[in-house]
Amino acid sequence: MAKNPKAADSRRGRPPTRRPQPRRAKAAPAASSADIEDLAPAVPGAVAAAAAAPAVLRTQLLRWYDAHRRDLPWRRASGGEEERAYAVWVSEVMLQQTRVPVVVGYYERWMARWPTVRSLAAATQEEVNEMWAGLGYYRRARFLLEVSCARNGLMEKGQGRAYRKGAKQIVEKGEFPRTASALREVVPVVDGNVVRVISRLYAISDNPKESSTMKRFWEIAGQLVDPSRSGDFNQAMMELGATLCSKSKPGCSGCPVSSHCQVLALSLENPSVKVTDFPRVVPKAKPRSDFAAVCVVQIAQGLEEEVTDTKGTDNLFLLIKRPEEGLLAGLWEFPLVLVEEGKTDSLNRRKAMDKYLTKLLSIDVGWKSDVILREDVGEHVHIFSHIRLTMYVELMIINLKDGVDRLCKKEDDSTKLKFTNESSVESMGLTSGIRKVYNMVKAFKEKRLSVSEKGQVPTRKRSRRLK
Ligand code: SF4
Repeated sequence: MAKNPKAADSRRGRPPTRRPQPRRAKAAPAASSADIEDLAPAVPGAVAAAAAAPAVLRTQLLRWYDAHRRDLPWRRASGGEEERAYAVWVSEVMLQQTRVPVVVGYYERWMARWPTVRSLAAATQEEVNEMWAGLGYYRRARFLLEVSCARNGLMEKGQGRAYRKGAKQIVEKGEFPRTASALREVVPVVDGNVVRVISRLYAISDNPKESSTMKRFWEIAGQLVDPSRSGDFNQAMMELGATLCSKSKPGCSGCPVSSHCQVLALSLENPSVKVTDFPRVVPKAKPRSDFAAVCVVQIAQGLEEEVTDTKGTDNLFLLIKRPEEGLLAGLWEFPLVLVEEGKTDSLNRRKAMDKYLTKLLSIDVGWKSDVILREDVGEHVHIFSHIRLTMYVELMIINLKDGVDRLCKKEDDSTKLKFTNESSVESMGLTSGIRKVYNMVKAFKEKRLSVSEKGQVPTRKRSRRLK
């Protein structure tokens, strides 16, 4: 009978520590049945019998996948090998950190607009960002277009799979279609579903957030992947994790690879071992709290001071492009300044915002322009994977008689900004946080309209100087 450290620990009244582990595999990206034997765990009895037999496991898994796979749009991709490789590539990038039902709509819109890697390579980053808006983890959109990704690299935060080249590089270097086969190269895929399946098949209980553990998952996945049907095998592993081998209710009785599953074998030998204990659940680190002043600057050109038409096409909104590196890189947003936690009151926020806008624009917002309305609209909390950002939103309507051209500091290219009319803001791809801010402002204006003359936001009788 297999010795179970968890059971032993339980008997001693201690929490379980370490379960049987497979021996470390040497890095070996190509799949082979000889290599996989090195991964077999040194455990006796039933578990040893359940040790991986990759050729059989591949056959069983692929047979199940062929019979039971869900009908998903990227699996229906038609055309030649290149088109199908591109379709799978796009879908796999989208599926990082995102569930299938969410991805389907994005995938279909994406493929309708950019059906080939060449058409994607002709797109701008901005167009790609717009298409991606709302899907989150915007770095993925950049990867698709521009960035080389480390093949067989470790999974970074928010980056579940290894991809070889962005569309631009593939096309610019003339490597496509020659590299179509490279897109289908025998490389593994490791996402959350695959982590769950592998951790159960091999009874790996180490912290999956640690890079050394992830390295092992990649190594095992690399050796499991079927060399003759690598794409299907990767899809099958993900499919198994997404369906039968679910987080809380695994359907082991119908699982095509149950005879290889070490955790199942352990659980049958000892009821204190639960399949759902794998992979180890690691409590999420508490997100950092950030605070920001956000000012939706609406420019009303050449109107009377007392009122401004909220629906007019003359209304322009100021948008700022974020830096090309870091969080939400290269995306457009309303002017936003981080403020310290103890300085989130209206006075301090406005001070910080005025300073920012004055630096950004060629006018001193406070003194030289006609601010005809400036009001707090509300707060919105946006949760990123590691940041909890509280945004204090205000609306500022500026009346400019001379138009917006003179607002731009042409000599300073360090910050990119643009003025966009209302219908463009409505249709452009804003991040979900910024879209929420815009909708808050819109609702605020509509509420004001409901108690005032239709089409006009009441403002102070005289234009208001800020300082
Ligand atoms: S037997 Fe159960 S736990 Fe093991 S891989 Fe299959 S569904 Fe997952």
